[in-house]
Amino acid sequence: MGAYGEMIFTGDELLRGDALNTNQAFLGEKLLDLGVFANRALCITDDLQAIAGAIKESLEREPLVLILSGGLGPTDDDLTREAVAEGLDLPLEFHPELLEEIRHRFVSRGYVMGDSNRKQALLPHGATVIPISGTAPGFILHHGRTLVAALPGVPWELQEMWDATVEPSLRKHVDSLGVGGHVVRRIRTFGIGESAVADLLKEFDWRGSLVEIGTRAKLDGLWVILRATNSPESSAALESTQSRIVELLGERVLGVDCEGLPEMVGSLLRGAGLTLSVAESCTGGLLGKRVTEVPGSSDYFVGGVISYDNMAKTRILGVRDDLIAQQGAVSADVAEAMARGVASLLATDCALSVTGVAGPGGGTEEKPVGLVYIGCAIRGVVEVERLRLFGRREQIRERASLSALDLLRRKLARYRLEQGIVLGQ
Ligand code: ATP
Ligand code: MG
Repeated sequence: MGAYGEMIFTGDELLRGDALNTNQAFLGEKLLDLGVFANRALCITDDLQAIAGAIKESLEREPLVLILSGGLGPTDDDLTREAVAEGLDLPLEFHPELLEEIRHRFVSRGYVMGDSNRKQALLPHGATVIPISGTAPGFILHHGRTLVAALPGVPWELQEMWDATVEPSLRKHVDSLGVGGHVVRRIRTFGIGESAVADLLKEFDWRGSLVEIGTRAKLDGLWVILRATNSPESSAALESTQSRIVELLGERVLGVDCEGLPEMVGSLLRGAGLTLSVAESCTGGLLGKRVTEVPGSSDYFVGGVISYDNMAKTRILGVRDDLIAQQGAVSADVAEAMARGVASLLATDCALSVTGVAGPGGGTEEKPVGLVYIGCAIRGVVEVERLRLFGRREQIRERASLSALDLLRRKLARYRLEQGIVLGQ
């Protein structure tokens, strides 16, 4: 019997396409982090017999874990509690303290709890409640070698409850059965595509016996994911594979198991005691949004200018008319002038600027859709990068704002080395 797990997702909204099954992606990855491979995921309609039957069938295969997602709310189509009770042939028991807890959640938000919520205080016999994140309690129970966990469908609730309760319980369960023991490392990169990574990492056996290498591409970067078992031999191979990959990918690497670009840029700015402002054209505020996503960003972020029209570039930022006339608004010179302009207007040490053609219209042969210039100023020294981004308007705008942060990240890392700045922990 291998270390595999199964998942059951309930909800007509998932089958109709009204909601995307993002919980499956989340859980599949989290299980793999524990060395548990999800070899079955079933999406099922809100029907008591169908769900109970699916649970029963799953348990006959004796997976290490069965995760149920959805159907823990108070409405008639929320059937997971009943289905588990039926599938495992267990009575449902009423937990008055759980009902009080749910009532308290309503009252503290200024609501009155309805009668329908009463059924949320029912748990199958032998189940342990998972502390509530939203208003729907989840539960865990053991059946033979299977740990059964029922979680609410709302993604943020499921994720919080996974991290706080299910993951530690499953880790213990996996250890007690002596089947798991996996180490995962995620090398985070930005500005390099999957095929370029594959080329650079040609020397590795991607499905090698000791360290398995995979990649995952997302808008905000590409991860190289290393997985190995816990043995001393594999751990040594993991360390050496990781350092070789980090060396090969060089400046493109943000770090290992690290935070994202906005947080990283924030730490670098804070560590160096520098302030930042932004001047945005085609990103229309997205860059400022990214920077201010980080709590505490007011420590280093002063503000920005959305200089969308040329008039705003000249009047607010002092970009010269003749520069725009000669070079065009989407040009290296204008990106540089925007960065200098906003740095001086807001008196910041650093500034980022973005000007580009986001499309779908407005492209020419000379200045095609996806052409973006990014300016980055640090204490009067400006560097401009020219990018050719692909995708639709929204992707180009997102990529442009992230690329700007990445340019600042790389420049700040160099600046830090030059200045001998050591970041505090
Ligand atoms: P609640 O008390 O909030 O109703 P619940 O456990 O009953 O909790 P569901 O009713 O199944 O949850 O789902 C609530 C919402 O969560 C759905 O309308 C849907 O938008 C979202 N959701 C449900 N399942 C998933 C899933 N697998 N992936 C992503 N979102 C989901
Ligand atoms: Mg519901």
